[in-house]
Amino acid sequence: MTLTAPSFGPVHRAGELCRPRRDGGTCEHGRPVGCNAVHDPAEPDVGQPLCPDCYDYAAHVLWHAHAGKLWDRFVIGVRRQLATAVGLTQSRFRDHARLSFARVAEYQRRAAVHVHAVVRLDGPAGPDDEPPAWGTADRLIDAVRASARRVLVRTPYSRAVGELALRWGVQVDARPLRVDGTGPDDDAVAAYVAKYVTKGASETGAGIDHKVTTWDDIEAAAVSDHVRTLMRTCWRLGGLPEYAPLHLRTWAHTLGYRGHILTKSRAYSTTYAALRADRAEHVGLDTVPGTVTDAHWRYVGSGHTPGAALIAAGIADDLARGRELAREDPGLWAVMPSE
Ligand SMILES: [Zn+2]
Ligand SMILES: [Zn+2]
Repeated sequence: MTLTAPSFGPVHRAGELCRPRRDGGTCEHGRPVGCNAVHDPAEPDVGQPLCPDCYDYAAHVLWHAHAGKLWDRFVIGVRRQLATAVGLTQSRFRDHARLSFARVAEYQRRAAVHVHAVVRLDGPAGPDDEPPAWGTADRLIDAVRASARRVLVRTPYSRAVGELALRWGVQVDARPLRVDGTGPDDDAVAAYVAKYVTKGASETGAGIDHKVTTWDDIEAAAVSDHVRTLMRTCWRLGGLPEYAPLHLRTWAHTLGYRGHILTKSRAYSTTYAALRADRAEHVGLDTVPGTVTDAHWRYVGSGHTPGAALIAAGIADDLARGRELAREDPGLWAVMPSE
């Protein structure tokens, strides 16, 4: 399944007609509200807003800062929806089934994170346990859709920004995956996911590799105007006491998103080392300093041994489809299987 960020304003899109508007027209800043170009994905305009002054940078950054909370609420919501659908109380749900989730967060060209995830429903003992008879794919997909539509996180009130109600974007792609029963071991799975991860990393466009400590660092960063404005927004909002818990200045380099802390797991250490080397290559470094990738990667590989292949395959499948559908290439990546 794929969960996206909502729209924060129209951006140029690659592929077919960008933003066709027959009647033309301009926004209050005098910029065209449509774009009749057909952009090549490599064009730097792709992902940039049609009008930076109309674009809601504060909402974009605050959405990133709350994406973790939104995900947590989504997970709780799926469990709740399922329990309700089959007439179980929340507390008794775990006696009947266990839900687990694996996700990959990816920056789209508009520098907003979206999430590819695989949801599993197993028996109460976990992946080795038969799921309950009521645990059909349709029911699970319904629960996923309902939860994605409903969950909401409110930002702390700010005199500058007000209070925002943050949700997932309207596009929720959820579908069943085939189970073939035989999967490779964890290392093979890690390598499999990593293959897609490193593909994504070659198209870095959102944020930078290291933390910024001053406003001047932001001004000097080799990023697009759009990304720089997002970083500046993090810096400005990060100075407001009401947003202090979000640590927006600390996470200005990832545009407010806090998913990029590395959590090493022994099982994946080999793959991780390969990832680091690969990543360093992409950013043109000839050494492999841990801090470079530590800023970008989170790879937690626990708790999914049986069926981890399914998760990896599902995410890979999502990615292939997501690219087709969204016509938006990935930027930075983070891998975050979680339960
Ligand atoms: Zn355009
Ligand atoms: Zn405008």
